[in-house]
Amino acid sequence: MSGPINAFEMAQKQFDHVAKQLKLDSGVAEVLRWPMREFSFRIPVRLDDGSLKVFQGFRVQHNDARGPNKGGIRFHPAETMDTVRALATWMTWKCAVADIPLGGGKGGIIVDPSTLSVNEKENLCRGWVRVMWKNIGPRNDVPAPDVGTTPQMMGWMMDEYSKLVGQYTPGVFTGKPLGGGGSLGRTEATGYGVIYTVREAMKHLNIDSKKSVAAIQGFGNVSQYAAVGFVEMLGGTVACVSCYDRHDKKSYTYSKKGGIDPRFLLSIVDEYGTIDKKKAQDSGYIIEDGDVWITKDANVLIPAAIEGQVNADTVGKISKGVKIVAEGANGPCTPEADEVFKKNNVFNIPDFLCNAGGVTTSYFEQVQNDMNFYWPKDEVLQKLDQKMTSAFHSVVDRSEKEKVYMRDAAYMVAIDRVVKAMELRGWLTGNS
Ligand code: NAD
Repeated sequence: MSGPINAFEMAQKQFDHVAKQLKLDSGVAEVLRWPMREFSFRIPVRLDDGSLKVFQGFRVQHNDARGPNKGGIRFHPAETMDTVRALATWMTWKCAVADIPLGGGKGGIIVDPSTLSVNEKENLCRGWVRVMWKNIGPRNDVPAPDVGTTPQMMGWMMDEYSKLVGQYTPGVFTGKPLGGGGSLGRTEATGYGVIYTVREAMKHLNIDSKKSVAAIQGFGNVSQYAAVGFVEMLGGTVACVSCYDRHDKKSYTYSKKGGIDPRFLLSIVDEYGTIDKKKAQDSGYIIEDGDVWITKDANVLIPAAIEGQVNADTVGKISKGVKIVAEGANGPCTPEADEVFKKNNVFNIPDFLCNAGGVTTSYFEQVQNDMNFYWPKDEVLQKLDQKMTSAFHSVVDRSEKEKVYMRDAAYMVAIDRVVKAMELRGWLTGNS
């Protein structure tokens, strides 16, 4: 009988599969199967009604051979140590494949942030830092926003850390608000990053981007800018986007004859990625069920909403014309979907390569914080394009050389880079 999926067991299985292909030494594999360091702690917070409540917090530092650990802090009621371990492990691979000099970290607190007042949220953020401050820092571990946390929260956390160390230290957290140490281009970074990899995949496969049609799931931060980029940078058409409607708690697909206008939809979407149905309808949009997006005639599929959406049940509904699947979301395609893609020769751009634009721009934010000198948006995006393009080509080259699926190739590139850094630092000689 199979129990609920344990994300960390999954992360270890994925690693073991590639470690075997790479014939990695079993001792070295054992180092990488587990995080280097884990923190589990309690955070007391005085609530607005005067009572004291204690929250459970976590931080996991998976591997910092290539540089300071990097990864978000999640505020989620179902947070567990194993989820945080898995996410920290995936961050190590994502930073390595993007070739940014950072390791893998993740943190969290068991809490539903919508149950807290602004004041309570601020106290909780500052409380997390008061426990962790000696073990984070620009040269050590750099957290960022994630599920349930916001740029404003990063601003409070950075302030608390700066007070504790006695100097303004913006580079300790990334994803800060603009004007509070944030970087231009961070909003667009993940979606545009997706498009840079799609552009390179099209060149690789000899596909004309101007004649291309994308079907996109989601209309949040990643999908909005993936849609804009597909139209404005590639000259292609976006057949549809879909989103979850938080008012009637159902998802919908939005399409229009000749393609959707992403900039128009951006003007009628709220901060949670819910499109205003009435305004869309008044402007001639066709609104269908949320799962219709996957059936649209397209040659590029961009699942950029949530995990597990392209699975054993839905993969058969994909249009025969689809040649590229670009994983904007984390974990949108299941192993069953992968098997179908392999059989049908569908080119996959795996999540930790495809959506690495976010963490890459977070790295740029930290660099700018360190220099105390900020780049214009064009410069940030140009540097991002270079990094994403080069990451894509390392993976595609490896995939061709070893004749392996793109996901396995991405793991190979990432694991090799981390092992190399450990070797160069003397971590594998037993003397360190
Ligand atoms: P978001 O909350 O801004 O947007 C999510 C979008 O998906 C919303 O439009 C929502 O309505 C839609 N959605 C949710 N459930 C849906 C469903 N069942 N059907 C159709 N649409 C649905 O989130 P985001 O920041 O855009 O992140 C999307 C994914 O990308 C997540 O997996 C996230 O972990 C991953 N990711 C995000 C970033 C980033 O920088 N934002 C970086 C790396 C990875």
